[in-house]
Amino acid sequence: MRQTLRVRVSGLLDVPLEDLAARGVKALLLDLDNTLCDPRGDLLPAEALSFCARMEELGLRGYVLSNGPRGRAERLAAQLGLPCTSRARKPLRGAYRRALGELGLTTEAVAAVGDQFLTDALGAIGMGMALVLVEPRFARDKPLVKLARPVDRVLRRLIPQVPQPRKSG
Ligand SMILES: [Mg+2]
Repeated sequence: MRQTLRVRVSGLLDVPLEDLAARGVKALLLDLDNTLCDPRGDLLPAEALSFCARMEELGLRGYVLSNGPRGRAERLAAQLGLPCTSRARKPLRGAYRRALGELGLTTEAVAAVGDQFLTDALGAIGMGMALVLVEPRFARDKPLVKLARPVDRVLRRLIPQVPQPRKSG
């Protein structure tokens, strides 16, 4: 059996979507803040839009799984045309199970994409899921996340970095 893919990449556009699809992944659980967008902003950057377009081209579905408050997460997910669970309480398993249920998929067919070790990576590992950890995109963390960042920066090194040249366009 193939080993579950768990890698760290520098940005959203370095997420190895083709590789994930080739491994039988059908859907991605996407973190919102600092992965897809600025935690203090209400706009989706072009990068997030092109990422989702590439995902779609490869036949991968997306699902926004955010620890952020209700309302904003749903609004941003809707802009991407994606289902969403907010206040997910990652790394706890409840919201992951709910997302899998809604997607009608098992853990083997799903990969998590996020920027924080303590929530996104621990959650995915706890669920036995593939994981792609991205570098936090905007560095404008909310207070609690900011507090956890130094620990996160050390722990994230446990996930092997995949050096991949960024694709343009
Ligand atoms: Mg995040």
